[in-house]
Amino acid sequence: MVQNVFPFVVGRRIWLSVLLLLIPFSAATANDMTSTLMVGASRIDVMIETSEAPISQTDVMKWVQLAAESVSTYYGRFPVPHLTLRIVSFNGNGVRHGTTWGRDGGLIVIHAGSKTTPAEFAEDWMLTHEMIHLAFPCMPDQQHWIEEGLSVYVEPIARIRAGHWTAQQMWSDLVRDMPKGLPREGDAGLDHTHTWGRTYWGGALFNFVADVEIRKQTKNKKGLEDALRGILNAGGDINQDWPITNALKTGDQAAGVDILQKMYAEWNDKPVQVDLQAMWKQLGVEADGTTVKLHDDAPLAAIRRAIEKGTSNSKANGSAFSRSDEDSSDAIPAQQSPLVIFAGRTTSGKL
Ligand SMILES: [Zn+2]
Repeated sequence: MVQNVFPFVVGRRIWLSVLLLLIPFSAATANDMTSTLMVGASRIDVMIETSEAPISQTDVMKWVQLAAESVSTYYGRFPVPHLTLRIVSFNGNGVRHGTTWGRDGGLIVIHAGSKTTPAEFAEDWMLTHEMIHLAFPCMPDQQHWIEEGLSVYVEPIARIRAGHWTAQQMWSDLVRDMPKGLPREGDAGLDHTHTWGRTYWGGALFNFVADVEIRKQTKNKKGLEDALRGILNAGGDINQDWPITNALKTGDQAAGVDILQKMYAEWNDKPVQVDLQAMWKQLGVEADGTTVKLHDDAPLAAIRRAIEKGTSNSKANGSAFSRSDEDSSDAIPAQQSPLVIFAGRTTSGKL
């Protein structure tokens, strides 16, 4: 999809305390490899199933690390204490078919091609998307759109904040893709029209508008991440079944607004139109062929930058690291500050 990933850096300075553990375990078959990553206080057990094609364990673990860093940076910690991540290799390139369940504390199954290059792994969005699903309660089918919409909208922002993606590329992708979420003729509200466009991009549109509105109403002191961290810290992860009204109320309270509840009351039943052209202009995002120009003199340019970088109030909540109070606009490369510690490895079957 995109070329340059690592040279771009956003976000604030992150300081870490580092914990290195060695955790051997042996529940794998002859063709499997099992590794453990510690992400702050959370543990990710990575099971790589290589029966179809051998795959580089080093490349796979780096990929998992990038995704875990992105999600932890956005939410202030990894969403669940223990995740089982099953990676099934296939013969070919790329990443496919990710699915997340609230099973045994959290389970993700995702397929990775044995010929996937490190650069391709670095550009992958799917594993970050799946990990974001861990950070919101399980919804009834009718509100599947909020789960997918959150993953679609938060994924590039999380990667930008961890230094693994670029703001330029995100806005360019959003200008191209966000119109897919607008209601079409005959569509009803988000609870009642379950097409692909309305589920994934309609849900993303809801979260994008909510993010901008929270920042407008709080004079850019709070953002959607404050609401989402509030929901997660109230226990609302994928292992819990909550009504959507509960989640949105908890999120609103955390951000000190009533925007999520008010928007839901309108968007759930009605096909709400959004003037995206006006939003891009206000945020200072100008389409320029296949890319965008970003204008810092636009009326809501500060909100655009806060979406990219987070607000000064977005304190990390995890015990494994904390952010400094320094509001550094020239941030350091995230790869200098690994959030994720490779804790142990067994290549099993021969042990
Ligand atoms: Zn999803």
